[in-house]
Amino acid sequence: EPAISFQDVTRRYPQKAAAGDVVALQDIWLDVPQGAVTGIIGRSGAGKSTLLRMVNGLERPSSGKVIVNGHDVGAASDASLRAIRREVGMIFQHFNLLASRTVAENIALPLEIASEDPARIPARVGELIERVGLTAQASRYPAELSGGQKQRVGIARALATAPRVLLSDEATSALDPDTTRQVLELLQSINRELGLTILLITHEMGVVRDICSHVAVIEAGRIVEAGETYSVFSRP
Ligand code: ADP
Ligand code: ADP
Repeated sequence: EPAISFQDVTRRYPQKAAAGDVVALQDIWLDVPQGAVTGIIGRSGAGKSTLLRMVNGLERPSSGKVIVNGHDVGAASDASLRAIRREVGMIFQHFNLLASRTVAENIALPLEIASEDPARIPARVGELIERVGLTAQASRYPAELSGGQKQRVGIARALATAPRVLLSDEATSALDPDTTRQVLELLQSINRELGLTILLITHEMGVVRDICSHVAVIEAGRIVEAGETYSVFSRP
């Protein structure tokens, strides 16, 4: 069974007046394999964010189904959406860290929201901080960190609830090339060591080439190519 399955998904955004709806995604069929790193590549406005946000229920399809770890996300109640979100972590281009919280406190946040036993939080946070290599920065605030360090905090926070799927929304687009490479290596090691399924969106071919075993190319709301990266990009 795929980790994520988009089944004939269309998403329209209603427009004011007589302009007609914006069709952000149209007739999307896509299986995201378990345990792989899959990239969605396309230009700005192609529909990548809309597609990604459907996986954790931040967007719902206008028609069709989005199945994640066997759950129908589009049809989920609020309670089951909360459960699905614990199985799906997400990282962002601009990190989305809370400025008033330290590294450790930012990473603890999803555990607090999930009502984790407070006695167990420090050990779990310590383990996550060690995994992303920020032990020396645990008590720092986001403003005191480099971009690469901020994204490491984002990754640790996304992993806090031990999700099975990690979503990445242009996670390296704000980073310089060296830092980008380090963050991609961290994502790859997480994929390999934890067996986590990663679905990322990007407009950069280099990101796909470096870590994605599978890729889908999206243009104007439609998938125009999908499959293993080597086969998609070796076609004449
Ligand atoms: P990408 O992530 O590839 O840049 P998006 O998924 O953000 O693309 O957007 C796809 C299309 O849907 C674009 O035409 C965008 O303007 C439109 N769109 C996205 N979100 C909304 C919204 N909330 N309301 C109206 N149109 C939207
Ligand atoms: P990188 O080259 O990895 O992007 P930077 O040059 O931005 O890193 O930062 C190098 C070091 O300086 C990092 O360890 C970071 O924690 C520290 N640092 C960066 N910005 C600040 C700041 N505003 N206040 C305190 N320390 C900072």
